[in-house]
Amino acid sequence: MSGRTDPNAASEVEESVIQDCEECVAPAEAFSVIANETRLSILEALWKAPERPVSFSELRREVGMTDSAQFNYHLKQLTDQFVVGTDEGYDFRSAGKKVVRAILAGSFNENPEMGPFEVDGTCADCGARLQAFYEDDMLTIECTDCAKRHGRYPFPPGGLNDRTREEILDAFNQRVRHLHCLAADGVCPECNGRMTTTITRDDDDRLGLEVRVDHECEQCRHSLYSAVGLSLLDQSDVVTYHRDHGVDLCTKPYWDLAWCVSDEYTTVLSADPWKILVEIPLDDEVLSVTLDGDLNVLELERTCESSEEARAMSD
Ligand SMILES: [Zn+2]
Ligand SMILES: [Zn+2]
Repeated sequence: MSGRTDPNAASEVEESVIQDCEECVAPAEAFSVIANETRLSILEALWKAPERPVSFSELRREVGMTDSAQFNYHLKQLTDQFVVGTDEGYDFRSAGKKVVRAILAGSFNENPEMGPFEVDGTCADCGARLQAFYEDDMLTIECTDCAKRHGRYPFPPGGLNDRTREEILDAFNQRVRHLHCLAADGVCPECNGRMTTTITRDDDDRLGLEVRVDHECEQCRHSLYSAVGLSLLDQSDVVTYHRDHGVDLCTKPYWDLAWCVSDEYTTVLSADPWKILVEIPLDDEVLSVTLDGDLNVLELERTCESSEEARAMSD
């Protein structure tokens, strides 16, 4: 980095990315404000209230605190960062809702594990059955035989509550599509920062592919990896092609689509610049999509396999 020759470089190095802030509440202070059971109870009471704003006395009754002065003290601490007081009573600031949602999502204080359990669908590489398991806030789908990963992505523990395994997998399927959609559009699903997309050789064998797509956030370093085909899940021509063959791509589990998770239907036409061909066979037809290094569609063609065979035979 050129910063090394900068006389101010030393002080730059000591700067904290997550703690320094101008015109904002220091993060340590913000967290210390909510590190209190009474204050969390106030946020919860606001959350549960059928209507907001909630009056001081009603809020105090819901929290169950008889000492009005004590209650007032805690409420004051939450105002104005997490709670806002108006003439009609108290309401959330956005940060207050975020605290409640973060707790409900469960990532701070829950560490559930689950599975392995059976998943509908077969391995794109060997055809064996698939299984899923959950640990460290991540859901993983892999082959029971060759252990090929069909995806390992963040899924907050709150997503496991009140859902059957089947429903968890449905939610996971939708979430993975959504995460990649956002990432491919340059928005980090974790922090809203700028995300860059690159195609790279899967030399470190993260996905067991020849090439993979990397999405990485410049701000929080969150990263997502996938096969090239996964980026085509919401491409309109790909969706139409599947609909014509009776497949609804919006609900079909992505891990059961070989072109989304394996290299079998992917050909690298050129590495510099990237030109990647994904061929999707369905019944007697093949959809050929050529993508560039930014995942833009360069070419798209539908051909009947029978006419291909005829052409091959006449050669
Ligand atoms: Zn397998
Ligand atoms: Zn981010």
